[in-house]
Amino acid sequence: MDTGFFLDWIAGAAAVISSCRDHLTQLDSAIGDADHGVNLDRGFAAACAALSRQRPASPGAVLTLTGSTLIPQVGGASGSLYGAAFRAAGQALGAAAEVDPRALAAALEAGLDGVRELGASREGEKTMVDALAPANRALNDALARGLRLPDALAALTAAAEAGARATVPMRALKGRASYLGPRSVGHEDPGARSASLILGALRDAAAGR
Ligand code: ADP
Ligand code: MG
Repeated sequence: MDTGFFLDWIAGAAAVISSCRDHLTQLDSAIGDADHGVNLDRGFAAACAALSRQRPASPGAVLTLTGSTLIPQVGGASGSLYGAAFRAAGQALGAAAEVDPRALAAALEAGLDGVRELGASREGEKTMVDALAPANRALNDALARGLRLPDALAALTAAAEAGARATVPMRALKGRASYLGPRSVGHEDPGARSASLILGALRDAAAGR
């Protein structure tokens, strides 16, 4: 995977976030403050604009610039968390011009660690971690079984989707939704849904090549 692949991923993520903007905002209106879709849409559009302006020269630089743009442009909890994730993933890739599947999995793991560290969060708390963590496990597992990248990324996305759906019966223990206590039960977590959309765009970038 080269720089173009990572540019395709971010462009695809921006497109799917834009088309699901209202749904994400609806999810956030049930257990938050109804800004998740709008904020992420603005942030990913800004990331695409920054990428086309600055033309980063490596996959790592694409992800680092994406993260640095998301932090101020998305704002809120998810801006800092996604920003930290993309920056950590970009740093993990270093300056390499080509990324192999193992390096991609390691970068995604670094991104997840970034979210867990900054958010002081772990699985079962009804956050984006509930989509990201099972997705990473599925990817590592698929690669260990010798699956090719498109199939491994399909497994990654399926696990993220299932992880997002599994947040519905959870009680939120982190972020704004935790203020609702037991009333947070019965709604899908907006950040877990957006995480599964962003990872779905990664699968689609690999399928398109
Ligand atoms: P805000 O809550 O500031 O309005 P958003 O609505 O953009 O931010 O994002 C909310 C999402 O952020 C939640 O659905 C959840 O997935 C994620 N989130 C919030 N706090 C944490 C945390 N401490 N750790 C991990 N994810 C979190
Ligand atoms: Mg919100």
